[in-house]
Amino acid sequence: MQDIRWKAFWLLFSWLIVCLIVAAFSDWETAWLLFAIGTIAYLWRHLHWMHQLNRWLDKPDLNTIPMGSGAWEDIFAKVYHEQRRHARTKVQLSNALERFRHAAGALPDGVVLLDDDNKIEWCNRPAELHLGIALKQDIHQPIVYLVRSQEFVQYLQHHVDIDPIKLHTISGSQEMMLEIRLVSFGSNQKLLLSRDISQIEKLDAMRRDFIANVSHELRTPLTVVGGFLETLSEMDKTISKQTRQYFDMMMEQTKRMQLLIEDLLTLSQLEAGKSAPDEEDIDVDNLLNVVVSEAKGLSKGKHQIHLDAQADLNIKASRKELHSAFSNLVSNAIRYTPEGGDIFVSWQAHNQEAVFSVRDTGIGIEPEHINRLTERFYRVDRSRSRETGGTGLGLSIVKHILSRHQARLEIHSEFGKGSTFSAVFPKARIIS
Ligand code: ADP
Repeated sequence: MQDIRWKAFWLLFSWLIVCLIVAAFSDWETAWLLFAIGTIAYLWRHLHWMHQLNRWLDKPDLNTIPMGSGAWEDIFAKVYHEQRRHARTKVQLSNALERFRHAAGALPDGVVLLDDDNKIEWCNRPAELHLGIALKQDIHQPIVYLVRSQEFVQYLQHHVDIDPIKLHTISGSQEMMLEIRLVSFGSNQKLLLSRDISQIEKLDAMRRDFIANVSHELRTPLTVVGGFLETLSEMDKTISKQTRQYFDMMMEQTKRMQLLIEDLLTLSQLEAGKSAPDEEDIDVDNLLNVVVSEAKGLSKGKHQIHLDAQADLNIKASRKELHSAFSNLVSNAIRYTPEGGDIFVSWQAHNQEAVFSVRDTGIGIEPEHINRLTERFYRVDRSRSRETGGTGLGLSIVKHILSRHQARLEIHSEFGKGSTFSAVFPKARIIS
């Protein structure tokens, strides 16, 4: 800028000197006239190049950029370089975009780019197959016009960056089970990812059926064995102390196997149950009184069991499942709390949610185990769990029941001091 101004100054100054020389040799009028003509020509030349620049900017093409003269030559040269750099960056960017599209197109999972109104901006081929989109026609259409499942619409409206949902779709004549996940990015845009999990679901169903069938088949023979053992041990009153001990051990082990099979059956029934559990209005205070009196039977007076329930706090749930989940948590507290310990059972509203919690003063759990407790057959101490009659499936069952009620399990524990297991039910379940 400085340069251009000095250039203009020196040009006008030189012209002024020329005009002064003319004035010295001729007269002042001629000199003034010459100066005026020179200045007007100078301004006209600027106007001319400004006009050229303005015209070129309407249709900026590198091949037609004006050459300019004087200060304008520099300006046009700079515009030319800037335009070339811009064109190069544009080519690089569009190459990168093209490469990204090829890469996203080659993904085995479906990818749909949604704008802030959930309209389709772009999608790859697997997404077209999974969700029945034809990109050429459906671009800029709201995704909910094409995927009409109620569950999907709700997921899209409320949930981003949370657990994926499963969606059953039919593509052509083929049925598919998809896992749908929404990921937010940029300013309110979303990526919708779809994965075909039909095969995994099929294998999982086979595994569930296998466990359910085996458990079912084992139940009858075990009941028969248990029954006859009991009859045999009672038939002959003269059997030796040692033989009686063997009978007792056999009956105890049969009972354990029966419990295990019952838990396996419960778990596979819960896993197979696609629909929400039967819902009824539950008088939780009443249910907890039943749970606590059963717990007292289990404890046989070895623990102090306290109940603090908010009587007017009730929820919609399946009574059978709720009973099973609460009993599991309370019986765990008893089994993992040494004699003389306290168990506090509570049912309270907290932050607009309904919270059932069981606090014990038992053995506690080391932090590294906490995240794994709800896995099937995961036990912190195998021998202790067996001793206390555990199957290793209790918390798995609790987790399934809670998730069927959109509730969550929270575990806090201090090793050697005790644990608190809480089941937190959402506001939507509370009967107001
Ligand atoms: P189990 O039948 O072995 O009790 P669960 O699934 O009910 O199986 O529990 C899994 C494991 O979690 C148990 O083996 C035990 O180590 C631990 N656990 C559960 N509840 C408690 C508790 N209240 N205090 C300490 N440990 C517990």
